Amino acid sequence: MRPAEPVLLTPGPLTTSVRTRQAMLVDWGSWDERFNQLTASVCEQLLAIINGSASHHCVPLQGSGTFAVEAAIGTLVPRDGKVLVLINGAYGKRLATICQVLGRAVSTFVTAEDQPTTAADVDRLLHADAGISHVALIHCETSTGILNPLADIAQVVARHGKRLIIDAMSSFGALPVDAQQVPFDALIAASGKCLEGVPGMGFVFARKQSLAAAAGNAHSLALDLHDQHTYMAKTGQWRFTPPTHVVAALHEALLQYVEEGGLPARHARYAANCQALMEEMNALGLRSFLPAAIQAPIIATFHAPQDPRYQFKDFYERVKAKGFILYPGKLTEVETFRVGCIGHVQPAEMRAAVAAIGEVLREMEVTHI
Ligand SMILES: *Cc1c(COP(=O)(O)O)cnc(C)c1O
Repeated sequence: MRPAEPVLLTPGPLTTSVRTRQAMLVDWGSWDERFNQLTASVCEQLLAIINGSASHHCVPLQGSGTFAVEAAIGTLVPRDGKVLVLINGAYGKRLATICQVLGRAVSTFVTAEDQPTTAADVDRLLHADAGISHVALIHCETSTGILNPLADIAQVVARHGKRLIIDAMSSFGALPVDAQQVPFDALIAASGKCLEGVPGMGFVFARKQSLAAAAGNAHSLALDLHDQHTYMAKTGQWRFTPPTHVVAALHEALLQYVEEGGLPARHARYAANCQALMEEMNALGLRSFLPAAIQAPIIATFHAPQDPRYQFKDFYERVKAKGFILYPGKLTEVETFRVGCIGHVQPAEMRAAVAAIGEVLREMEVTHI
């Protein structure tokens, strides 16, 4: 059944299933034992996705993904710690800003937006500065869709005896990470991305010993993951008003995730979406910003047409009128737009979206692509 609303080809909020949305038709009391069970079940299922229950706690947190990133930095990096932030896009920059705002010492390593950070870079940087306690990186940098080599970087960080904090917001659930193979102190994600829940809750997989040692680190009451975890472990409840409907929707989304075949199936569907998108866009002459080898099947960036008749706002509105919501580009140097491959969508919808894009370009008389 095709909903009447446009299909969101965006990196969150994204298209969710009717079943997931229907799970929000119940009002839950935060003291209700059944709601506590729902939260516990969600956390357990999330930990299973990274094979993390032996080594990590899952700490859920109210708010958008950035709240969880800020909470992870503020809680797990001691006040005298120093964070090396690896940057190749807007979310990496945001991570560095969070460190600055929280008053944590930070050093940044910036590569071009089409250039992954390498393990060799990190090795060199850690050799050069013994004061670094933590390395933070974005797994899939959503500003372009570029994939950073997480597993290799994690090995180097561990070899240096340093701690790793991973913003896996746009990759978690679709790209594999095994907590027993990839050493990390924190991996951060949220309800409304590849799990296809609705937005409103983040979660942090925090290494058990690191979380236990983090009491008193946070400057923030609401964003203190140690406190959040301690309270939830003791009472089964959220510390402050829980996003009840978001939790219920995520629970339902996770059931569908498992029914679909879990991570391998989710990954395969997104890869098929991305492949269909690339083929059809190529056929229109629209060029992908990233080479295929470093493109994650999450979101794709395309060069905007050169033609002066192309204006993103007009283009966006016309494509929307045909049933598809695109995403603006986030690059400073080149004009681009983005198309998400994630959400409750199939390759057929990706093809239909590109057909709509083709029609719109013809209507706008954009010939110089
Ligand atoms: C979506 C996203 C976030 C969180 O953004 P919010 O707007 O706070 O939800 C953080 N990092 C990455 C890589 C993301 O894709």
